[in-house]
Amino acid sequence: MRIDLHTHSSVSDGTESPAELLATARDAGLDVVALTDHDTTAGWSPAEAARPAGLTVVPGMELSCRWNTSDQPPISVHLLAYLFDPAHPGFAAERVRLRDERLERGERIAGALAAAGYGVSWERIVEKSDGGVVGRPHIARALVEAGAADSVDHAFATLLHHRSPYYLAKADTDVREGIALVRAAGGVPVFAHGLATKRGRIVGDTAITAMVDAGLLGLEVDHPDHSEDEREHLRGLAADLGLITTGSSDYHGTNKTTPIGACTTDPDQLEAILAAGTGSAPFRD
Ligand code: AMP
Ligand code: FE
Ligand code: FE
Ligand code: ZN
Repeated sequence: MRIDLHTHSSVSDGTESPAELLATARDAGLDVVALTDHDTTAGWSPAEAARPAGLTVVPGMELSCRWNTSDQPPISVHLLAYLFDPAHPGFAAERVRLRDERLERGERIAGALAAAGYGVSWERIVEKSDGGVVGRPHIARALVEAGAADSVDHAFATLLHHRSPYYLAKADTDVREGIALVRAAGGVPVFAHGLATKRGRIVGDTAITAMVDAGLLGLEVDHPDHSEDEREHLRGLAADLGLITTGSSDYHGTNKTTPIGACTTDPDQLEAILAAGTGSAPFRD
């Protein structure tokens, strides 16, 4: 069984439609794939409709969150959520707020880049997002198109880096509230790429323990952005705290170079997720 529990389609910042993504998953020999677009469930029904026979699809999402402390600026954290009820009113309202926040922030970043002469327009960026959830990868592609960056990676390393003067944070969900919302909607919250230092500041074990107290059920351990040491640390922490562990590619189509299935989840860990998720069911034969 090959299981990849973290992928993005073009309904957020991947480059393949949900149908194309599932075909890619099947061609790569996966048996189970989770669709985890940022802050939206818009890909769920096209994925259910286009599911190739033999492939199990776990409906999910990656919620944009922040770890708030009194003594330092918030730290951006991502929360994977599986098998929740998409109609849960409080959680649905929070997703709407996050998407609005992304639009406002994207337009401000684009405006500042345009004013500085980088040749991007907000209209073009929105076009690139094709009706989906807007993120920095869309701005990156517009920068490449305008000749202001050599590649999406280059744009992230320069103008869109979290230390760039053009970078703006979003007012993301407090992670403890996010965990509570996912649980209230019958879902399974898993902390995504928790030790990925290349993405910015990371939280420590104390924060992770506090997240477990708030209802966190798992840690994403095998992720392309984690070193071997980081994986070992997370595996130990998960064993100590009694948490599920997952592995995934965080596939984004051609927006990133990682192939689908680059890291995978153990079948017994998937079983634990399926047993804990009560808000929706996997799409399967
Ligand atoms: P945002 O949510 O708008 O702040 O954008 C962050 C998104 O950009 C995350 O989903 C990352 O997966 C993606 N990302 C981060 N670094 C890169 C990169 N070097 N190339 C492509 N996508 C990236
Ligand atoms: Fe992304
Ligand atoms: Fe993420
Ligand atoms: Zn992701």
